[in-house]
Amino acid sequence: MDHFTLRDGQLHAEDVALDTIADQVGTPVYVYSQATIERHANVFRDAVTGAGNDAPWISFAVKANPNRAVLSVLAKQGFGADVVSAGELLRAVAAGIPAEKIIFSGVGKTEEEMRIALEHGIGQFNLESEQEAEMLSAVAAAMGTRAPVVYRVNPDVDAGTHAKISTGKSENKFGIPINSAPAAYARAAALPGLKIQGVAVHIGSQLTDLGPLAAAFEKVGTLIATLRADGHAMLVADLGGGLGVPYNPAQPVPPSPAEYGEMVRRVTAGWDIRLAFEPGRLIVANAGVLLSRVVRVKDGAVHPWVIADAAMNDLLRPSLYDAWHDIRGVAPKGTNMVANVVGPVCETGDTFAMAREMDSVDAGDLIAFMTAGAYGATMASTYNSRALTPEVLVSGDRWTVVRARQPLEALIAADTVPDWLAE
Ligand SMILES: *Cc1c(COP(=O)(O)O)cnc(C)c1O
Repeated sequence: MDHFTLRDGQLHAEDVALDTIADQVGTPVYVYSQATIERHANVFRDAVTGAGNDAPWISFAVKANPNRAVLSVLAKQGFGADVVSAGELLRAVAAGIPAEKIIFSGVGKTEEEMRIALEHGIGQFNLESEQEAEMLSAVAAAMGTRAPVVYRVNPDVDAGTHAKISTGKSENKFGIPINSAPAAYARAAALPGLKIQGVAVHIGSQLTDLGPLAAAFEKVGTLIATLRADGHAMLVADLGGGLGVPYNPAQPVPPSPAEYGEMVRRVTAGWDIRLAFEPGRLIVANAGVLLSRVVRVKDGAVHPWVIADAAMNDLLRPSLYDAWHDIRGVAPKGTNMVANVVGPVCETGDTFAMAREMDSVDAGDLIAFMTAGAYGATMASTYNSRALTPEVLVSGDRWTVVRARQPLEALIAADTVPDWLAE
């Protein structure tokens, strides 16, 4: 459920008409609803409360939406952060997320990133290889400390999602093979700079079936028993993120957080361990829209081309993952059209939708790409020398710009031309 609704014929974010934001900030612009973020945080927390032997450790996957205003909303909800770079770590800290609630994931953590994370005293490193374990141990030992670690295991489970966001098959780069985990833990336990505290798994994103998640968690449960028998401390089982959200109203709705929570409770019963979760998309996807103005409608061979002022550099998902975003008129006229919706970028991949039945729009009308709060602004680029997309946060009848539009002068001034070309 979200707080983007039609009122008096105008699409609103909570109590604010989207055309007000478009008029004052310009387009394209991302608009987030604070009430929706809070609602999803509450729904997820409620769904997993009571699972595990302690309060669940919920760490928002920062890569889904790293805006500091969004992170601040989640910090107030008691959420931690799952980060994959020093930049994300520093953003989470700047947003007031306590370091001990921060989990550092990712296959390519550098020595410098490890040092920064240790200096901040983060709660957990999710190791993805034995080479990484050795590097982290050396960095921590040199700093006179021990890094709290778990291994991310790769359960070799097909998550049944898009290939580019599947992470739990043996051919994916993520984690250590679950079958070799006991040997890897034995070697890690002998390293002077590590303190083993559990195990982690994350098999992919936009999962619309609980079966693969349950299969992965069952394998992890068996592994926890083995590792305990081997004498390792198993205090945290990090079950990752990945639960899907509804993008296309014509598709079956993905499992609800409550159904996910029930499955987790069933599979983890008797584990006697604290559970950690890393939801990203589920918390923020439906809490954001990309607001755009139609530049023109061009005749097409079959269907008209609706050319928006938003492009693949603002919202990459359709181009990258063939993702489906609902496209709505901000002031629907009550009639429909079938159109191809594209941006101005010089790539055929700059296509949001083909042969889409949608609200009729004309040049100058506003449209909203729905469910754009996750993996939207965070993936924006300046391709075609287009400024980075601004972001707005709405709360009730209040709204404010939480990331200003990048001036084109700043974009151009970011390069330097060497002396030898200046003459
Ligand atoms: C991306 C990612 C997540 C979040 O995935 P969602 O599908 O957005 O919930 C969680 N954990 C790790 C390790 C990730 O890479």
